[in-house]
Amino acid sequence: LIKHDPRWEPGRRGWADEPLWVVQRFVNTRDVDLGHPGEEELTSPDVLKEFLVAHCGLSPSTSVRAPELRRAIEIREAMRALLLRNNDGRPVPDEAVTTLNDAVKRAELGARFGADARPVLEVCCGSDFNAAVGRMLAAMINSMNDHTFGRLKACPRASCNWVFYDRSKNHSGTWCSMAVCGNREKARAYRDRAKAAAR
Ligand SMILES: [Zn+2]
Repeated sequence: LIKHDPRWEPGRRGWADEPLWVVQRFVNTRDVDLGHPGEEELTSPDVLKEFLVAHCGLSPSTSVRAPELRRAIEIREAMRALLLRNNDGRPVPDEAVTTLNDAVKRAELGARFGADARPVLEVCCGSDFNAAVGRMLAAMINSMNDHTFGRLKACPRASCNWVFYDRSKNHSGTWCSMAVCGNREKARAYRDRAKAAAR
């Protein structure tokens, strides 16, 4: 499994804090455009299993096969849809909502009041595939309640979609990196305008 070095972060931003970090890392297992070795990290059920054991409490004795890999990728892309909405407000497709609801149901999340009497969602029990995915879903939902979720954004450039954590004061970050995607988008907009003017 590729370990991302924070120094490779395109915008040099820090990662989200734990446990939201795991969501960021998971959605970034598909890397479209930044020249890292391999665009899709989840190339086999074994790689997925390694990720879930390392970060999501999956029991090492659980078998992870092709159907789980397919589901995990579906869930990952549904999460990405939420993170794109966090960035530019685009609507989340119905299928993504259905996928997330299905995963939440299978994970059997429950509410618990923490030491500070604030409620959190957590996986009630288990260390199977559904529970492991559920830990990421719980981290995501809990971050909606502590207002950190809105800072987790997917880069809107279609060939990128890299997920970054926007630490700016006014949540104004749009691109994973101004140097990478921001400038390319600006260059593209410039070319489009030039083409339109030439017509
Ligand atoms: Zn980008």
